[in-house]
Amino acid sequence: MSEPARVEDRREEWNGPVPVPTGATVPFWAATLEGILRYQACDCGNRQLYPRAVCTGCGAEDPPFEASEGVGTIYTYTVCHVPGEPGFADRTPYVVGVIELAEGPRLLALIDADPERLEIGASVEVTFWQVSDEAAVPVFVPA
Ligand SMILES: [Zn+2]
Repeated sequence: MSEPARVEDRREEWNGPVPVPTGATVPFWAATLEGILRYQACDCGNRQLYPRAVCTGCGAEDPPFEASEGVGTIYTYTVCHVPGEPGFADRTPYVVGVIELAEGPRLLALIDADPERLEIGASVEVTFWQVSDEAAVPVFVPA
């Protein structure tokens, strides 16, 4: 595991949805506050994000967590000119993408970058925006 990623305190300004840690997601969100992106790595070889109570590969309960290096590539993305969330209205255009982590799992996340300069396959790394006392959302930036 490399150094933890940067965590920016955005609690005052954030108007978007706030994740509520429950069940299998509690260890995931706790780690985000420390700048660590965790995924689940099951004994069967399956790796998954977001966290679930069971492995999507074999059905095992509570697959263990591992820390990602926080780097990956843009698998696909979209530029949102019309906010999908009312709280994102003052943020348009913003970018949402699917990031394929170096370890394999893919996750949907905000990409904080100039939409004109993005391309599929580009390298990105994780940072975190802390949006509540309980959670920091992963936000990817060009690596
Ligand atoms: Zn499994």
